[in-house]
Amino acid sequence: MAEKTVGEKLKEELFLKKENGLKDISEEKWQKVTEFCEAYKAFLTKKTEREVTKLSINIAKEHGFEAYDQNKTYAAGDKYFVNNRGKSVAFVVVGKKPASEGVQITAAHIDSPRMDLKPNPLYEDTDLALFKTHYYGGIKKYQWTTIPLALHGVFAKKDGSVIDVAIGEDENEPCFVVTDLLPHLAQEQSKRTLSDGIRGEELNVLVGSLPFKDDKASELVKLNILKILNEKYGVTEADFLSAELEVVPAVKPRDVGLDRSLIGAYGHDDRVCAFPALIAVCETENPEKTAVCVLADKEETGSDGNTGLASDFLRFVIRDLCEKQGVDYTVALRNSKCLSADVNAGLDPTFKDVMESRNAAKLNYGAVITKYTGARGKSGTSDASAEYVAYVRNMLDNAGVIWQTGELGRVDLGGGGTVAMYVANMGVDVVDLGVPVLSMHAPFEIVSKLDVYETYRTMLEFQK
Ligand code: MN
Ligand code: MN
Repeated sequence: MAEKTVGEKLKEELFLKKENGLKDISEEKWQKVTEFCEAYKAFLTKKTEREVTKLSINIAKEHGFEAYDQNKTYAAGDKYFVNNRGKSVAFVVVGKKPASEGVQITAAHIDSPRMDLKPNPLYEDTDLALFKTHYYGGIKKYQWTTIPLALHGVFAKKDGSVIDVAIGEDENEPCFVVTDLLPHLAQEQSKRTLSDGIRGEELNVLVGSLPFKDDKASELVKLNILKILNEKYGVTEADFLSAELEVVPAVKPRDVGLDRSLIGAYGHDDRVCAFPALIAVCETENPEKTAVCVLADKEETGSDGNTGLASDFLRFVIRDLCEKQGVDYTVALRNSKCLSADVNAGLDPTFKDVMESRNAAKLNYGAVITKYTGARGKSGTSDASAEYVAYVRNMLDNAGVIWQTGELGRVDLGGGGTVAMYVANMGVDVVDLGVPVLSMHAPFEIVSKLDVYETYRTMLEFQK
């Protein structure tokens, strides 16, 4: 090999290296990547915050976590979880050092964009039965028509019982659909703007067409649907008033691409960070500092509400930990560090112009650090400090993690936020770190397997 020139050597020394992480990947590493992603694909079959909370707790129990007990004392190495109303959960591994020296927090969210049923959803029109919905989170509404949909959630009955509903995922079960106009009659609809192509009140879910056999009663198709629901779940129309029923794409996680390097699924945002964070905290044994992993609800609607991270839930988990150790909780928060584990937009070759390519995250370039989000002049961001980014960068390089930086689109085009600001408002150092995604918030989102694995390695390193 020819000797390197002075310029080549200097460039090696001075330039920031950005490389596709799959370029020189070993067979052995790829094996680990795919194994981890098979487990992730199994995790993805749970689609709502309630289902993911339940599954996460079950996985954690297998790793020795127990339900938090206010009357118990906890020693270094102990593992417990705090279940917040079945929709959000925090996992704690008590460290050797007191919490006043800081805790290491990972925070991801487990709610995803979808359509929620309205309180009075069921109606009959034109001899068809439908559900009225209210979309949840930021969706491009036209993407949610003419695809198979499933119904997940709960009916909470007046007697206190809660009935789980999950129908439409199995191929032997029926599914649901939002209809759209045929192109032949869409001349007027086609003149609408894309964002208005399908309107909120047009997201009506088709649920049946078979009339109940009766000569006198009216709304017989609706009646028959209620009869089926009553037989299956013991509910009446009034029980919809105290239900949380979510309509989600009935699609299974699949490998994408002839080389199987990508995963397509509903709800990567943000289970693609929640799963690595969960597995990392599960595998954390006897850490120096206490490890906390919080899986939050309501991120997609702004984190408000008692299961969102704008609530005091996480604060109280840390306060309880401090009280048991007899240490000051404000000191603990001040010394704590957090990785806000959320996705960022990956550079899409078909839509490059929404990004500024020098600062955009790319698939297969590893876990992406997003120093700030926000809109316009960084409005609504928690811009991570240079010192904290230096800490994370050093940690990642020392561990040999493949990583990159990203931003949410070019300046003055849209923007967005994560839970980072709510954790930052507690006085904790925080930066966003997660997986780049294509087609974010669509019914079928795309991530790279390598990026998922590197995000897991990051979480593990952060909490060990
Ligand atoms: Mn997210
Ligand atoms: Mn999102």
